[in-house]
Amino acid sequence: MPFLQRERAVLEAHLPGLDAALAAHPLDRLETAPSPALAAFRTAGGPGLLVPRALGGRGISALEAVRIQRAVGARCPSLAVGSTMHHFSVAGLVRSAVPGGAEEQLLTAIAADGLLLASGFAEGRAGQNILKPHITAERRGDRVVLNGSKMPCSLARSMDLLTASVLLADQDGVERLAVALIPAGTPGIEVRPFWRNPVLAGAESEQVVLTEVAIDPEMVLLTEVTADAVPDDLNTAGFLWFELLLTAGYLGVASALVERVLTRPAGPPEDAAALIGGTEAAMLAVEAVARALADEEQPWDDGLLVSALTARYAAEDAIARTTRSCLTALGGMSFVSSTEGSYLASAAGALAFHPPARARMAGPLREYLDGRPLRIG
Ligand SMILES: Cc1cc2nc3c(=O)[nH]c(=O)nc-3n(C[C@H](O)[C@H](O)[C@H](O)COP(=O)(O)OP(=O)(O)OC[C@H]3O[C@@H](n4cnc5c(N)ncnc54)[C@H](O)[C@@H]3O)c2cc1C
Repeated sequence: MPFLQRERAVLEAHLPGLDAALAAHPLDRLETAPSPALAAFRTAGGPGLLVPRALGGRGISALEAVRIQRAVGARCPSLAVGSTMHHFSVAGLVRSAVPGGAEEQLLTAIAADGLLLASGFAEGRAGQNILKPHITAERRGDRVVLNGSKMPCSLARSMDLLTASVLLADQDGVERLAVALIPAGTPGIEVRPFWRNPVLAGAESEQVVLTEVAIDPEMVLLTEVTADAVPDDLNTAGFLWFELLLTAGYLGVASALVERVLTRPAGPPEDAAALIGGTEAAMLAVEAVARALADEEQPWDDGLLVSALTARYAAEDAIARTTRSCLTALGGMSFVSSTEGSYLASAAGALAFHPPARARMAGPLREYLDGRPLRIG
């Protein structure tokens, strides 16, 4: 079976025409904002992939989703990043939906109208804990008012809705992490340039500024997460989806480089096992955790999240080794004559820049192995 054929078959089954639409553009065009990839994703029905079938979506499994992300990453790294933010936000909505509630109405609209969700957790400060936002949410009369900014926030220029982590005091005055859902057209939302790197620029990871943004309290979901940064069930589920989709997408980016080695017209035959071994093994680990999401009852526990993080950090190592050996195999003339190889290698390495960074998790993972609950460092 040709390399990546299984992943492209799943992509074609659920988003017919997307692979061909992406393949029709040169890589640098897809990776520059505004990227034609986002329109192609909407046209193919991408926004509704994780929306349940009963609400008009495709209702695909986690296993299908990670295979699709790998196929997408192999064509358009920026779309893999942007769509990860969308899909894991949708997965969070699905998890918190109650029959007939506001979330179900939103999910129906996402599938029917191809709405895109951005996910703003980061706030542009190195060392900031991803579960400890600085953006403020204040109850004022019958509204909740938000102030602060999120950056980088992928899909910033194309989003229809922003999901943003905020800090909200509960009735007892304890500050908890909450997730606000804000229509992109709400007065007080402004998008400013932030991303200065040409790598992954197609993901539109800009700054979103919120000034006196007033929303309905129904659109703010209070979590159980306090200053200890131990994720609750909702956040554990969110991180699980995020790590799996993200890792699969970046493995796809590295796979694009492997594919270029496998399909180049000239050169001696490669040791195929050495060439594909790292990315395939890492993808198998991602798939194993994705299968467990279907097999294990909810709420998913932190052991499963540790498995997902392990798969992700193993993928980071595999990507580093594979991209280096692929660039060597493609050779100096390939390096000199095109930016594609070095672009893909650089883009694939950005997996390490997403939360939680491996170094940050050294202490929390050690504590977890000593029997304490998993903290996100
Ligand atoms: C392509 C791309 C798209 C993105 N899109 C989004 C988005 O849509 N929404 C969003 O919310 N975020 C997004 N992000 C941002 C991301 O979520 C991160 O929050 C951000 O990149 C973290 O920046 P950092 O690595 O400098 O910070 P940190 O994670 O703080 O890391 C800085 C360095 O310090 C080390 N370090 C920090 N703390 C510790 C510690 N306690 N112990 C040991 N070492 C430590 C880290 O390992 C790292 O080397 C995106 C990032 C990328 C690359």
